[in-house]
Formats: sequence, structure tokens, C-alpha cells
Amino acid sequence: MHSFHYLNGSLHCEDVNLQQIAEEHGTPSYVYSTATLRDNYTRLDQALEGLDHGVEYAVKANSNLSVLKLLAELGSGFDIVSGGELQRVIAAGGDPAKCTFAGVGKTRPEIEYAIRQGIYCFNAESEAEVTFIDQVAGDLGLIAPVALRVNPNVDAKTHKYISTGKSENKFGVDFESIEAAYERASKLENITLRGLQMHIGSQLTDVKPFIEAAEKVAPLAAKLKELYDIEFFSVGGGVGIVYSPALASGTAEWWESHTEEARPLTPEKYAAGVIPFLKDLGLKILVEPGRYIAGNAGVLLTECLYEKKGAAKTFKIVDAGMNDLIRPALYEGHHEIVPIKEPTKVTAHIPMDVVGPICETGDFFCQNRDLPDFAEGEYIALLSAGAYGFVMASNYNTRGLPAEILIDGASSKVIRPRQTVEDILAAEIANL
Ligand SMILES: *Cc1c(COP(=O)(O)O)cnc(C)c1O
Repeated sequence: MHSFHYLNGSLHCEDVNLQQIAEEHGTPSYVYSTATLRDNYTRLDQALEGLDHGVEYAVKANSNLSVLKLLAELGSGFDIVSGGELQRVIAAGGDPAKCTFAGVGKTRPEIEYAIRQGIYCFNAESEAEVTFIDQVAGDLGLIAPVALRVNPNVDAKTHKYISTGKSENKFGVDFESIEAAYERASKLENITLRGLQMHIGSQLTDVKPFIEAAEKVAPLAAKLKELYDIEFFSVGGGVGIVYSPALASGTAEWWESHTEEARPLTPEKYAAGVIPFLKDLGLKILVEPGRYIAGNAGVLLTECLYEKKGAAKTFKIVDAGMNDLIRPALYEGHHEIVPIKEPTKVTAHIPMDVVGPICETGDFFCQNRDLPDFAEGEYIALLSAGAYGFVMASNYNTRGLPAEILIDGASSKVIRPRQTVEDILAAEIANL
């Protein structure tokens, strides 16, 4: 569910008309809903009530400081993948003691910084990394808390670029080698073994791979608790969202119109699936949702600049490009596209490619999709763009990063102004 809907013929986020936002702040702009972020967090937190648990929002999905601040205020911990993300969490008022540090390539400065800030745990992805963390902690005269990430070799059945839990992926330590890795790690002097972690992939829309992984790895977690007195088991993130139909899935009625069987993954269904394997472990269970929290809480607003009727196709050229939202180009990601002005019964639908201004053939948001025939000068919204949207934006083609705007009820706030070309050039001019 989410807070984007048509009202009086115009797309709104909560009580705010997105036509006005686009006119006032220009495009392309990301718009996020406070209510949706809050609801998503609270729903998952409540679904896991039966467990001693913690929600650690995966910062990389959307790392705007105002988003992190909102989640910190709700009690969220944070899963980070760089020293920079830890700096963001701290700047937003988050607690380092509720941070886990994932990622396969942590550097010495990042490890030192995280140890000094007192993070909850490093989730190490190789034995070489564990050895290095031990060495860095020793140099500082401190003890570093460490968990290992196990690769359970479970097929998440998601896009190959966002699947992480198979043996052929670069993530984690093989299931077959993990116990020996813990044994060796337990002998190191400057680390303490605090937990076990896994994360099988992103955008999972079926609960079965989660169940399969929990069932397979829970006995290992129990054994590691007995042997090394670990205190947590992190089951990772990956809960998927509804990209299609995105707008319709905002309402409770849409969800209720589906039978339990046919309904996409919900936090309740996820929790009901995994809790039986986790509840008797006597361990704190951590979850690391990113996309689930932020994905459907954001849209990208863009203006249609030109229409081009080619021999084979109609192209609608918009002012957002793959540098602003790369998911379609990177992982064949689907974003539902809706005009801000609500289509009526007489609005024609035509097949079109919605493309950006970037000099790349991959710079499209959809191809051959039947959409309401919007005109030049009209605004449209790319839905479900709150996660892995702005955070992956770049300055390719010397385009400034979009503005980010946070809605809360009837109020709106620019939480990151549009980047200017002067901003982009400054460091180079200074070094010319
Ligand atoms: C990316 C990532 C997540 C979040 O994944 P989502 O699919 O956005 O929930 C959680 N844990 C780790 C270790 C990750 O790398």
C-alpha cells in the first residue's frame, strides 16, 4: 500500500498535488511519502512482533538524510555498506550501535571508522576480511564485533543481477565452509563473534526461497550459538514490492481483491513463513529491508519535452534520463508510468517508448507500452522509484542530480535541492 493516488483529476502524494510540485520545483524530481515510509516500517516491525527482532533499514536503497532521520525516529537500525553510509546515519541522528556493516570490499579507513564509532557488528563476507578486521582492531587496541555472511546456495528466483544467495555469486562464505571459517575466526584475538548473517537476493515476490533459506540456515545458527555464544541471526532483506500494477496496489481494496494465494508477498506472509524456523533459536533476529521500505514510497516526476512519431514507433522524450533512474537500463526494471493529469474515459491509449535525453540506446523507461497519450509539456510520474532510484543517479552527460522532495500530509519540503551545473564543475574549475 502507498499514498499516491488520483484526486480531483490530478495525481497526489498524500494531500499534495504533484502538478503543483512539478511546477514549483521543476523536473526531474523525486518525491517521497512520509506516510508510506512510516507505514512500511511499522507494518514489518509489527509482523515480526512474535520474535526478539530488530529492523535494520538497508541504507543503500535510499540514503537521503531526511529519510534516515525519519526511520531513526521510528526506532530503526541501519544496514550499511560503506563508511560513507555510516557517516550519513550518524549525520541523520541514527545510532551506530544499531548499525551492521555489510559488503565484500571494506577498506582499512572504513573499518577503523566503524570500530571507533562502535557499530553493532561487521558482517564479513570472506575469511580474508575477518583476518583483516582482526588486524585493524588489533592496531587500534580494540575488539571488533564480527558475523560472517553465509551463502546458503538458495535460488531467490529473481533477476540475475540482484540474486546473491547462490554459490556462483560473489557474496558470503559457502555453506559447506562456514563452520570451519567460524572455528578459525574464533581463534583470533581482536574480534568477538557476535552473529550470523545471510541475504539471498532482492525483489523476491515469493516467500518460498525465504522459507527454504531460513529452514536450511537456522540449525547452523543454533550450532554457532552453542559453540561461540553468538547473539543474533540476520536473515537479510529482499522482500519485494509490486511494480505492476503500482498505482492500483496503493489501496487496501486492491490487496483484498486478491485471494491469499494470489496476493503478492506481504510483510505478514513473510513473517508467517520464516518465524517458525527462527522463534526458538534464542537469538535476536535482524531483518535488513531496503526496497520494501522505500520502493513504493517514491516517484520520479518528469516532463514530456517532445513527441516524435517515427516510422515504426511513437517516442515520448522526457526530461528524466537513465542517469536519474537507471533501473530499467541496469536490471530491466519495470516502472509504471502515469500522467499527472488523470486520464479520462475518452483518453486514447497508444503504444509508445518513453525515452530520456541521454545519448544511449538503453536510455528508455518503457518500450512498446500502451499508455494514455500524454502531450508535450505534460508531467508524468514513474512509480515505485523510491528505492535504488536517486542513490544510483549520476552526472552522466553533465546533468545535475534531481531534486528530492518529502511530502508529509499537506506539507512538502525540499530535502535535497536540484544540483546545478556550477556544483558539478566547481571541483574541476578549482583544479584547472
Ligand atoms: C542490498 C542489501 C539489502 C537490502 O536489499 P533489499 O532487496 O533492498 O531489501 C539487505 N542486506 C544486504 C546485505 C544487502 O546487500
